[in-house]
Parts: sequence; C-alpha cells; structure tokens
Amino acid sequence: MKLFKNASLLLLSLLILQACDKKATKENLKQNDLELTNSSIDEIIQNMSIEQKVGQMTQINIDVISKGEVYKLDVPHEIDSAKLDIALNKYFVGSILNAAGYPFSRKHWKNIITTVQTKAVSEGSKIPVIYGIDAIHGANYTIGATLFPQQIALAATWNPKLVEQAASITAYDVSACGIPWNFSPVLDLARQPLWGRYYETFGEDVHLAKTMGKAFVKGYQGDDPKHPEKVAACLKHYVGYSFPLSGKDRTPAWIPDRILKEYFLPTFKTAIDEGALSIMVNSGEVNGIPVHASYELLTKVLRDELGFEGIILTDWEDIIKLYKDHHIAANMKEAVLLAINAGVDMSMTPNNYSFNDALIELVKEGSIKESRLDESVRRILIAKEKLGLFETPYPNFDNFPKFGSKEHALQSLQAAKEAITLVKNESILPLSTSTKILVTGPGANSLNYINGGWTHTWQGDETKYNTPGKNTLQEALKLLSPNVTYMEGSGLDTNINTLETLKEAKNNDVIVVCLAEDPAAEGPADINVLDFPKAQQNLVKELHKSGKPIIVVSTTARPRIMREIEPLMNAILLAYLPGDEGGTAIAETIFGLNNPSGKLPFTYPKYQGLNITYDHKHTEKINRFLGQTSSLSEYENQFKGKVYQWNFGYGLSYSNFIYSNLTIDKKSYFESDTIKIEVTVSNKSETPGSEVVQAYFSDLTASITPSVKRLRGFKKTNLSPNESKTIKLVVPIKELAFVSKTNEWIVEPGKFKLSVANLQTILSVVDK
Ligand code: BGC
Repeated sequence: MKLFKNASLLLLSLLILQACDKKATKENLKQNDLELTNSSIDEIIQNMSIEQKVGQMTQINIDVISKGEVYKLDVPHEIDSAKLDIALNKYFVGSILNAAGYPFSRKHWKNIITTVQTKAVSEGSKIPVIYGIDAIHGANYTIGATLFPQQIALAATWNPKLVEQAASITAYDVSACGIPWNFSPVLDLARQPLWGRYYETFGEDVHLAKTMGKAFVKGYQGDDPKHPEKVAACLKHYVGYSFPLSGKDRTPAWIPDRILKEYFLPTFKTAIDEGALSIMVNSGEVNGIPVHASYELLTKVLRDELGFEGIILTDWEDIIKLYKDHHIAANMKEAVLLAINAGVDMSMTPNNYSFNDALIELVKEGSIKESRLDESVRRILIAKEKLGLFETPYPNFDNFPKFGSKEHALQSLQAAKEAITLVKNESILPLSTSTKILVTGPGANSLNYINGGWTHTWQGDETKYNTPGKNTLQEALKLLSPNVTYMEGSGLDTNINTLETLKEAKNNDVIVVCLAEDPAAEGPADINVLDFPKAQQNLVKELHKSGKPIIVVSTTARPRIMREIEPLMNAILLAYLPGDEGGTAIAETIFGLNNPSGKLPFTYPKYQGLNITYDHKHTEKINRFLGQTSSLSEYENQFKGKVYQWNFGYGLSYSNFIYSNLTIDKKSYFESDTIKIEVTVSNKSETPGSEVVQAYFSDLTASITPSVKRLRGFKKTNLSPNESKTIKLVVPIKELAFVSKTNEWIVEPGKFKLSVANLQTILSVVDK
C-alpha cells in the first residue's frame, strides 16, 4: 500500500477517521483544519497505486455490493460485506450509484452510506466514496421524499425562482440520505416528441432551457456545494442525445456542427458557467461517432471550448457498449482505450470490474500514460473535496427536520399549480363547487400516471410504493366539492365502462376527462404513435354525445395529438406530469382557487407527421400547392389552419391580459449594447393572475437562413385585478447572434423585429 506514507497525509487520514467516529458534521469540525488544497490532492495522487487510481475512476452499481445477484437482489436489501470488501479493498472503487430497484427509507440509506463510507475512509484507498443517484423529480428513490413535477412541467411554470427552490428541496432530501451527487438536470432539448425522455427535459427552446438549467444547478449546488444541504449537479446527457433521427432512445443523431453549437451546446455551456461539478455523456452517437469515444466533443469542445473542469462520467455501461453495440472496438480493452483517450474521467461500469482490469492492463503495457489517470483522479478528488466529503463523508442524518415536510409539499404544489397550462376555455372554467361534476378517464385516479417515470422505481409503474396521503385528481376534487362523481371510463388503451360512464354523464352538469399515458423511463418510454390511444379518444367522443360540456385534463409525458377530439372539448388544461401534488393542483385550478399561468415549453403538434418547433425556418411553413386546387384536401388544410395545435409560449388565464406601449431605448444598437425593453401589461379583469411576458427576436435577413423568431427574454409577473404594470426586460445584443458558415457565433448588422405578445417594433444593429 503506497497511500498515506508521509506524515501529513497520515495526519489527514486520522483526522478523517476521527471525524467519522464522531459522526462528523460541519459544526463540530473547523473547516480549515481539513480542507484539502490542490497540493495535498497532488500528494495523495502521487502516493496512489495504478489500481487505486483506476478505482477512483470506477463507479459501480449498488447491486455489486449487495446480497443477491445483479438485478435479482435480496429483498429487503442488504449490503454484502464480502462484496463491499472486494469493491473497496481489491478494486478501490471511488463511486457507487443508485438504489436497488425500489425506494429505501432514510434509515436504510443511513445504514448503506455509513457502512460504505466508514470502510472507505479506513481501508483500501482511505478516500471517501462519492455516491450518486437519479433524483429526477425529487428524491424519488427515498420513501417519503417530496416529489416535484417533472422537468417539462417545471419549464412550463416559466418561473426560474420557483424551479430553483424545487431543486434546492431535492438537494436537501438527497443530502438527508447522505448522498452528495444527483444525476440531474437533463439539459437536452426536446425537439422530437416520440423520444421517451421528452418529459425529463425543459422543452424545446434554448433560452428557456438555459434559464431553467441554470436555476437547477443553483438550487442543487448553491453558492458552495460543501453546504450540508447541497449536492453536486450532473448535466445530462452531453450532447445531442435528445435528437435521434429515428426518435428512439440511444439511436444515432445527425447534427451539423453549426446546429450543435447553436441549439444543443448552449444549455450545457450556461450550466458549466454556473459551476456544475459533473457531466454525463450521451449514450448514442453523433454524426457516426459515439460520444463516449469522441475526442472532438469531450476534449476539444467540452474541455477546451466550453471550459468544463469537472468530472466527465459515462452513462450506464457505455464503455462496454462501444464494442457490444456500437462496434467501434473489438473488445473491452479497445473500448476503454477509446473512451479514456476521448476524455472520460469516470466509468459507470456498472455491474462488474471489466473496466478496471482493462484500464490497469492498458496503463501497465504503456498504451495509456499514468499521468492520464492522474488528470481524471485529480478532477474526481477535487469534486470530492468541493463537496466536503473528506471532512464529512456522511452527514448528521438527524439534521434534516424538513425532510418530507408540509412546507416542502407546498412548494411542490405551487410548482404544479404554476405549471398548469390552460389552452382552451369556452367560458366554462373555473367551475363552482355547486356544479355537478362527473370525473373520469385513466388519469383521474392514479398517482403513477401524474408522476411518470423515475417515481419510486425506474419505470414509475409500481403502485405499492406511492406516498400515502397524496391525492389523485378525483380524490382532490371530492375534497373540495360534495358534487363530484367518479367513474373509470377507460384505461390507457382499453375501454372499461365507457357506456355506463356516458349514462352517468347525463346526471351531471359537466364532465372532466383526465387523459394520460403509461409511466415509463428511457427506452421503454419511446412510442411509435403520438396520437392519444383510440380508447381515450373514443371516451371523449362518446361523452360528447351526452351534450354536457367537456373539460379535458391532459397528464402526459409529451404532447399527445388531440386534433380530432379537440373540437369536442370546451376547456383543456395541460398538467404535464405534475407530481405528487398534481391532483390537488388540478382540482384547485378547476375550482378557480388557482389561476392558471403556465405557458407551453414546446410547440404542441397537430399532426404526427408535422413536427415543427416554434423557431422553425420560414420555408418550413410554406405550402407551394396551396390555392392551386379548388377543393382543399386534408393536406392543404394542415397549412391553411395552424400547422401546430398550440404554439410554444402559449397559455391562457382566468384573467384577461392586455399589452400596450412596447418601447425600446434606441432604434439602432452596436454589438456591445444592451436593449432595454419596456411594455405595459394590464389585467383587465376582476381576477388576480400571473402573466409571462415574452420577448422574441426575428432576424429579418441573414447569411444563414434565420428562424422566424427566437425567445430571448421573459419575466413572470403577478397582477391584481385591473392593475397595470410596466415590465422591463434587458437583452444584450450579443444574444441576437447565430452560428455562422464558419461555425462562429456572430451578430450580423441588419434589421431585427422584436415581438412581445401582439406588439412589434423594429430595431437595427450596426457595425462598430
Ligand atoms: C440513464 C441516465 C441515468 C443512469 C443511471 C442511464 O440509463 O441514461 O440518465 O442517470 O442510467 O441510472
């Protein structure tokens, strides 16, 4: 054992051990006593063996240290001390991930983390392990944690402060389990709704996703990730993951460099600038090269251009996949060589030690220099130091009184309420509690359908782990009104009792139908058809025969096409996947206790074959046949009407907002200038409400075909009845840049149109 030969390091390790014995907390340790400097990290590295360095670069799945077999663990879960011994004393692993297929209690997490860390700091490399988890919408692998709306719903709030608070509570709950690292947020742009991970994103727009991503990193890491209630963020999945040509998870993406730079890199760049400590790599390939083997993307772009200094972590088994799936390596050794040379720091191996064996061999035979290991180990140890793991390998588990508290649940409720997007209202909503309501549809009585994937289990489809006391939509409606009747109506894609439900509809004043989609995660969440399943469309069509007004609530992981049934609906609320408080949030919205203020974070498609984003090019909307035939075909009608169902940024309110007096401070700007925008928003109603003021810019003529418009600023504001407010937005001219023919960000002089709601003005950008 080479480690801890010199006296100062021995002292450090004794201090660490002492700290562990006392169940160290920040309060009982003087931070400076133990803080590792860069030079002491170098000293640790100098004293590490090749095996120990490779171990630091290894992340194993919890199954590998647990009783039972991988994927067939004993229930209840137990750590296998012999396996843990192999992990820490033979392979010196630096990181472990995830839960074992079902959620654990905090008590069990305490047991796991203290067992692992106590051994890690006293045996093997004597370096604390960094434990990571997928807490995707709250600490979803811990019983009793606060579950938030999924990211797509948080984006629909257009409220970065609220989103930061949600991330901050997630960090608290994850820290309450002794886990310092969260594999979140997803910063891929959702521009292909068939793709299963659509709901895990902040939607289709670069500016909105950048803003929300920044808020998430802030919420997770705070000003100092060492704080006992903060965790490291992990940005996913760098880069191009969300845009596979086939729409299927982990399949090839073809993205020109210009488009990659303009659309897919900025979310990562913003979060890196915010200090994100780690990043996870896209499992798929971009332009024929698996990203895990791309020196260009991992080193030249991510390290050199974007300036990322943190840990580059592989995704699940992705080095193995370089030879098993991608066929760019003949065996594990070649695959490891490719990934390490491309720039990977840590391998989510995750179920065996083949990465370690191969990497050790590669270093010993001279194919990889030991100094290359040092670079990655240094980044990993710096992250551990920044998280305070050397001082406090696990927290004082008693210090988290707000875990699962009412206060946190109310934050989740507020997020769900602000996400809800009203896209149609023929003066029917809100309802009075004296209205007789029939509530039906597959989403009306399910917590799983409103939470989606990554809820207690990976796929989120097990009902037995649901948090007691959380209300489904029909339960929440009944809590607010004595005049609510519930009938199933239909399943997700099966008729259950549609005709009986129609009969019952006649005894009611209004029908609320909650449409839904199967909870799922990753590949299993990919779909082939975007339309709502026939059984659900049929339910709406049958209920329409009752002649009663129909309010549809959609709780889905992505926009599901409703073109045919939309005309039968009198009001439509999109709730996305609103989480555990979603039932309550929707019920409060239906009764007017919440005034909807959500805005679409994506363009809602009308036709599956017409996938268009709001920031499309001009030619994407032109139909050259239109007007050439006397009768309009279905094809022509698509273009005659809107090419989408609802546009990005759209959302109604129970208030009536009117915009006036759009002004800018100048008519002509230099590239270094900032545009100061002012606009008046008036609430011409008796209902208090919130409005999102959105500023879009259109480059009128450019050397690369410009988008019709691009969001470049927004602000959410509350308005009392009949109140008017002047809203100020500030947009630097450099935000009007695009990526040029030579792959550089440039602002081209010329005219731009600014649009805010129905108001517009023209400005010029001139050369210096
Ligand atoms: C997913 C990641 C996740 C990882 C660890 C992978 O399959 O793509 O998003 O963080 O598993 O669970």
